[in-house]
Parts: sequence; C-alpha cells; structure tokens
Amino acid sequence: MQNSADIWGRVEAKQEAYIALSDRIWGMPELNFQETRSSAEHVAMLEAEGFRVTRGLAGIPTAIMGEAGEGGPVIAILGEFDALPELSQEAGVAEHRPLASNGPGHACGHNLLGAGAMLAATAVKDWLAAQGIPGRVRYYGCPAEEGGAGKTFMVRDGVFADVDAAISWHPAPFSGVNVADSLAIQLMDFSFTGRASHAAATPHLGRSALDAVELMNVGVNYMREHMPSDARIHYAHLNAGGIAPNVVQAAAKVRYLVRATELPALWRLVERVKHVAEGAALMTETSVSSAVVSAMSNLLPNSPLERAMFANFERLGPPAFDAADRAFAEQIQATLSQEDIASAHRRVGVSVTEAPLCDLIVPLDARGAKMVGSTDVGDVSWAVPTVQARGATYAIGTPGHSWQLTAQGKTPAAHKGMVHVAKVMAATAVDVLADPLLLSQAKAEHDARLARAPYVCPLPEGLAPSLTM
Ligand SMILES: [Zn+2]
Repeated sequence: MQNSADIWGRVEAKQEAYIALSDRIWGMPELNFQETRSSAEHVAMLEAEGFRVTRGLAGIPTAIMGEAGEGGPVIAILGEFDALPELSQEAGVAEHRPLASNGPGHACGHNLLGAGAMLAATAVKDWLAAQGIPGRVRYYGCPAEEGGAGKTFMVRDGVFADVDAAISWHPAPFSGVNVADSLAIQLMDFSFTGRASHAAATPHLGRSALDAVELMNVGVNYMREHMPSDARIHYAHLNAGGIAPNVVQAAAKVRYLVRATELPALWRLVERVKHVAEGAALMTETSVSSAVVSAMSNLLPNSPLERAMFANFERLGPPAFDAADRAFAEQIQATLSQEDIASAHRRVGVSVTEAPLCDLIVPLDARGAKMVGSTDVGDVSWAVPTVQARGATYAIGTPGHSWQLTAQGKTPAAHKGMVHVAKVMAATAVDVLADPLLLSQAKAEHDARLARAPYVCPLPEGLAPSLTM
C-alpha cells in the first residue's frame, strides 16, 4: 500500500509504448479467435519486456501468456483484444462514419483492455525486479470474449490452476471497482431440417424449417412472462433458408443466447427453450438439433480484493480529464438521448450530473442496477479469487457495442483512463504480493464460496472452442 507512488511511477514510465500498442490494436480489429495480428502484437511486446511467453494456451492459437519473476505468489492480470463485427468507425469524430462497409471495430474497447492490463503487468514486473522479492506476475492475453468464451476454455484446460489471484478491468463510463455481478450465459444454435418443395406448385409436399424457427421464436417469446425477471433470452437468425420465397425452406438455423443469474437457473431455462424447439419441430413436421457454441459462468465477488482495489482508487482519485476531453465527450453525448445518460448513472448507482466524463470514484457500496451482461471473466472468478476494475475511458451514456464507443477508442481521454486504471491494477497486485494476509483473506473467502457451491464448468463435455465461429 505504501508503494503507491513507486508503482504509479513505473506505470507512467512505460505508458507511451502501451498507448501506442492500444492504438495499433484499434487499427487491426479482429473477431473471436481470429485475433492473429493482435495476439502477435501482444507477444512482441511481452518479449520486448522480457516476459517468458507461452503461446497457444488451451489449444487456442491466439491465447497467450507472459510471466515474469520467480517463486512466490502468482498474480494474473487479464487482457483481451477481440473486436465486434460491423462496428468500424472513424476515430475521434462524433458522427457515424464507418471505415469500411460492415467491417469490424473495437466497440467494446478491448484494444485498451489488453494494452492497459499488460501495462499494469509490466509495472509489477519492474517492481518485483527492483524489490528482489519472490513473486510472479503474468499477463494473460485472452481471446474471444465476445461470445467465444475464450477464458472458459482456458479455465477448463487448467491454465489458471497455479494462479493465486486474478485482476482485470473493462473500459467504462465511470471509475471504480466492478463489484462482481454478471449473468451466466449459454450460446446455442438450433438447426431445423424440413423438406424443400415448389411453394406454389406443390406446397403440400414441403415442410418449412423457416416456419419452425418462427414458431420457436413465438414460443420462446410467450415464455417471457413466466421466467425470472432478471433472466434474458435473445436470438438471431443465422440461416433463414435462403432468399427465394417461392421455395419451401428446407433448412434454417437460429442462435439463442440464454442468460440467468446463476448456472442452475440457466440450465432450467435452457431445458425449457429446448422443449419449445422440439414443439416447433413437432408442429411443422421438421427435425431439430441443437449445438452449444459456448458458455460462461456468473462472476463471483471477492470482498478482500475489492476493498484493496477500492483503496487504490481512492488514493489515486479520478482520472485527470481536461477541457478538451470534456468538449469531445459533450459532442458524443449530443448523439445520445438523455435516457442513455441518466441510465448510465443509475447503473452504477451515482446521481445524474452534467459532467460528460467521470469525475469521481464510484463508492464500493453504491447501489447500482444489476449488470445484465455476461463475461468469461466469470469462469476465472470461480477458479481463483478475482477482482475487476471499471476504468473511465469514454463519455457517460455511450452505449456498449456502439459506433460512439469505437469512435472514442483512441482519444486522449481513453489513453488517460487506460493509464489510470493500469495504476490501480498494478497497485492492487503489489498489495497482494506484499501483504500475505490480504491474499490469505481473499483465498479464505473464495474457498468458503466454493464450499457452498462448487464450480461446475458450464461447457458440455468435449466441446472445443469455435475457432471459426
Ligand atoms: Zn468487452
């Protein structure tokens, strides 16, 4: 704890190189498991810093790890670098200007997430070397957070088995501890098979797979009244059977995302969705098969680590955004609704103000609305005591996965927010390495939670990562 100024200085000393790394990753947006160039950039940076690098973790070519230090506790700092489809956008402008038609874009800020996490790991490496004490820090470059559940596969493969504590962050509108709160999720595809026929001449001979998908969706939509209000179900048509209305569609495929607060509730909901699919097949005389694509667990909290991280946020104060940062954030806010901005405040439990960028640290006990997203950090949090930061990098109210978020991925405010949260993460890692009591408290709480509900990997037996999803 007393090391704050020292560890912050080590973050600042290397910040320019990691800001440049983040900007390079922003400029090469790559999707789930295809992050070949981004992963190679991260490996090159780790090697230049003298980390011992392992590639291809859990059989995933783009999953990487760099380790530094000897003996002692092992602290993992988790980064990501995957982008989202169809969200390319010119940087630094407050109007929708896609770069290339339907190209991917960093609309979740994972360019910052990976570079900021590695900046923190580098500072901890340098601190360990200066202290000459036992202890190891690892940077994990984790692919395919956006639906591929890279970390869930990495947990299943045991890549965190000898880790003592894990630290991560996510770009956000506000700075503070991301007190564990996310939904367990399963992604699954339902494929219906019918019989093709001329839709005018012999419609009675056809059996429509598209009809089955439509009926399945209707059935699931009727379920909504009768499911827990904090559960979520979404779907997208992967194959609507072709573009010819005059042919009875013989094949159709729909992807479902089912989310619930915990895995047991998730499995109950998934069973019901499967029954609806079978009902739709029965009604249409088609057949249906389902295949799980990926799954992620809900996040487990860890209060000793959350308190330690919060103390570092308080010591550091909010990021020092300037008038130019606020002016651009106001331009972005002008493209949003007042409801977008108000609900961003409500989600973290702070009162609505005019400030376009974060100027506070969200209190640890703020009563925000439940988070209704999911993250594969969830599975890491079951394997090892885990804490996540929120790092303010963009205008308050910016929707996740939006062109506005891509547009803010290389701004001076984003860079400041990334360096700021890297200081918090590095200082928290130093706390854990320097304070055996903190680590033992974190482990005791984690063990107690697992004693009540042991971890069961949500991936079906033998499921391989969808490397070509
Ligand atoms: Zn994200």
